[in-house]
Amino acid sequence: MVELKKIIEDMGVSDYGFGNVRGLIPENWSDLDQSISIFVELSRPLVDDIKSQGPTKTYFAHYRAMNNYINEITLKIVMYLQKKGYRAVAIPASQTVSESSDIRGVFQHRTAATVSGKGWIGKSGMFIHETIGPSVRMGTVLTNFKLPVGSPVKEGKCGRCRECVIACPAMAIEGTEWRAGIDRIELYDAKACSDYMKESYMHIGRGSVCGICMAVCPFNKK
Ligand code: SF4
Ligand code: SF4
Repeated sequence: MVELKKIIEDMGVSDYGFGNVRGLIPENWSDLDQSISIFVELSRPLVDDIKSQGPTKTYFAHYRAMNNYINEITLKIVMYLQKKGYRAVAIPASQTVSESSDIRGVFQHRTAATVSGKGWIGKSGMFIHETIGPSVRMGTVLTNFKLPVGSPVKEGKCGRCRECVIACPAMAIEGTEWRAGIDRIELYDAKACSDYMKESYMHIGRGSVCGICMAVCPFNKK
């Protein structure tokens, strides 16, 4: 365990956590019920830029660099665990696998992150890290290596705030407080969000970034 922690810490992550995701993972990986979540804080000035001028090309470049970095970190963790004789899989940092309008990855990073106890999900559907806030990118490794798991967070802490609901240009956010197990559509319309990004920001990030809901959130670390 000490060796695994050192490997993760040496790669410069902002934080990491461990969770038990039994019952939450795809059936073909049911033996991989332990999760490793890593968190990397986004560049604060670039998030501030989104707040004042909307998504920028520099933010998109940063977003892509972060995803590549996270994929490298989670790959190294998988390689380490397999060398030790365990099974492990890295969930890609940013990937959609569904063909329909139900835009999803193979497993939600935010699910593992809340189960690890490191934060909750905001009304916007973003993961909000307990100290960093929502300006964070995440990576996840699923494994059968038994980990010292955290206590799952089961409720949101947005309270009366509606900043993201008001700021979202796609009007995609419902304004509902998150609780564990809630259907994503009760929080926000992923298709409306995606359609808006494609319509409005194709010239910036091939229509794959916006981040306004993230930038306006008062839980961002000051
Ligand atoms: S990323 Fe942009 S369009 Fe999508 S929910 Fe957030 S503010 Fe709305
Ligand atoms: S902006 Fe407000 S309502 Fe939206 S996620 Fe952040 S705290 Fe929650």
